[in-house]
Amino acid sequence: MYDENNIFAKIIRGEIPCEKVYEDDEVLFFKDINPIAKVHVLGIPKSQCVDFSDFIYKNTPTTISEFFNKTHLVIEKLGIAKDGYKVISNSGTNGGQEVPHFHIHILGGQKVNLSI
Ligand code: 5GP
Repeated sequence: MYDENNIFAKIIRGEIPCEKVYEDDEVLFFKDINPIAKVHVLGIPKSQCVDFSDFIYKNTPTTISEFFNKTHLVIEKLGIAKDGYKVISNSGTNGGQEVPHFHIHILGGQKVNLSI
């Protein structure tokens, strides 16, 4: 069940401010409030999706691919494509997801020492 009062839903509605990197009718990319790398940007669809699986189940292949194409446009805009980066989605309890609105983390601008 999607919680309409989660932090990212409030950011989408403009109830909480954020530092926007890219926005259109479908998606929003903004800086993480507690960055763990020189570049730490979050990307979210504006539609109500709890986690990665929910995003996949609820959307068409076109919408899903557009989200990831826009993710790469943002990576280019951030100037981190050449030197490398990490794209991470924490999903659900075991994935360590804290905010229950599907999002991806874009991390770069330095060597990102997060290992799996
Ligand atoms: P998760 O653990 O759910 O994958 O990551 C949630 C991320 O959201 C964390 O990196 C956290 O710093 C970020 N975050 C939480 N609240 C806010 C907020 O109000 N504004 C912004 N810009 N980021 C937030």
